[in-house]
Amino acid sequence: MTGKIVSADTNRVVIITGGSRGIGRTIGLRMADANTRIYFNYSGHDSQDAEETVKLIEDAGGSALASRVNVASQQDVQDFFKKIVEECHRVDVLVNNAGITTDGLLVRMKEEDWDRVLAINLKGAFHCIQAAAKIMMKQRAGRIINMASVVGVMGNPGQANYAASKAGLIGLTKTAARELAPRGITVNAIAPGFIDTYMTASLPDKVKEAMQAQIPLGRFGQPEDVAEVVAFLASAKASYITGQVIHVNGGMYM
Ligand code: NAP
Repeated sequence: MTGKIVSADTNRVVIITGGSRGIGRTIGLRMADANTRIYFNYSGHDSQDAEETVKLIEDAGGSALASRVNVASQQDVQDFFKKIVEECHRVDVLVNNAGITTDGLLVRMKEEDWDRVLAINLKGAFHCIQAAAKIMMKQRAGRIINMASVVGVMGNPGQANYAASKAGLIGLTKTAARELAPRGITVNAIAPGFIDTYMTASLPDKVKEAMQAQIPLGRFGQPEDVAEVVAFLASAKASYITGQVIHVNGGMYM
């Protein structure tokens, strides 16, 4: 575990899965302020990333605690939420951002690659929503934001497992939105297009050029483009928005 929560009196508790780098890190930074406690997790791929993120959030005037948690494990997720509730007694915002890709053509895709992507991207969100909803229902308030993808609505060759996980996440979002609305909880999804992060950095230049050609705004998005929408959906200004998929893709999908 890395970081410290500076004050027990701050009034907003935000949980971000996969918050150590990329879009998740930027969401943490965007939401950091003296009144917000940020709890984020990561798989442990590189704990230096998590330490750096905690430092960046602290430098921005916020406080953060990073935990190594595998969202695919229900037990890990339950332990993670239990600790937060013991400390804060509430959860205001959950951002289900953790995600991975293991690409390959459908006919050659290994069962273990299918299972792993679905377990983290879709089942992981289910675990976290279930844990957060129990707390938010008692509060009669809460915001849940799920990180889907343009690929979940368009499909993409080589990403059958990833596209299925993100399409599933959209179905999960709409169902959770309907079930939880009577308790004052909103649930929305964001579907980013291609965003400049570690996840897209390894794509060959030819693939990147071909993708860029499909984007009317002519560029990949930045993590800040997505974090801004998360901050809005988590704010009081978005209180009448639920069950929606907000597309952040430079016009790639209309
Ligand atoms: P990224 O840079 O690869 O970061 C992924 C984050 O998820 C890391 O913090 C990683 O932790 C964490 N993570 C991975 N497996 C996990 C697990 N089992 N349990 C807990 N945390 C785990 O990815 P990104 O580009 O920022 O993407 C963030 C989200 O946006 C993902 O859901 C992705 O599908 C979605 N998205 C991205 C793009 C894009 O173009 N980048 C487009 C559409 C949607 P470790 O580093 O410790 O593994």
